[in-house]
Amino acid sequence: MPSATLACQFCGQLNKVDLSRHADRPKCAECTKPFLVDRPVKVTEENFDVTVLKSEVPVLVDFYADWCGPCRVMAPVLDEIAEANAGKLLVAKVDTEASPAVSQRYGIRSIPFFGRFENGQMVRTAVGAVGRDGLAELAG
Ligand SMILES: [Zn+2]
Repeated sequence: MPSATLACQFCGQLNKVDLSRHADRPKCAECTKPFLVDRPVKVTEENFDVTVLKSEVPVLVDFYADWCGPCRVMAPVLDEIAEANAGKLLVAKVDTEASPAVSQRYGIRSIPFFGRFENGQMVRTAVGAVGRDGLAELAG
């Protein structure tokens, strides 16, 4: 049963979520709001390590910024990837403006930047508006 530790999008509480039960809409132990793991989850500097690096499934991370046009173009594609791979792959989004230390750590200078993480390591990357095929390649 692959799991990942996710911060609740509502109250911030960290929960260990069984990703194989995504269809049952796992709930936050603190505030009982649901975790939508078939959608991209927001990750910050504070929880990047525990969520992305410790995840038991591969994680596709989108490093983006609100002002970035190509990032907005890729957002719906990322939504599709998250839904199609729910339970097998976690899709995470890092706001590079709000969490600059994470992008610095990985030397990210150009966004959108997509990184596939497995067992705490960034194993494959893609930069720019790579389209559906580009993201599917990172997801698979
Ligand atoms: Zn909560």
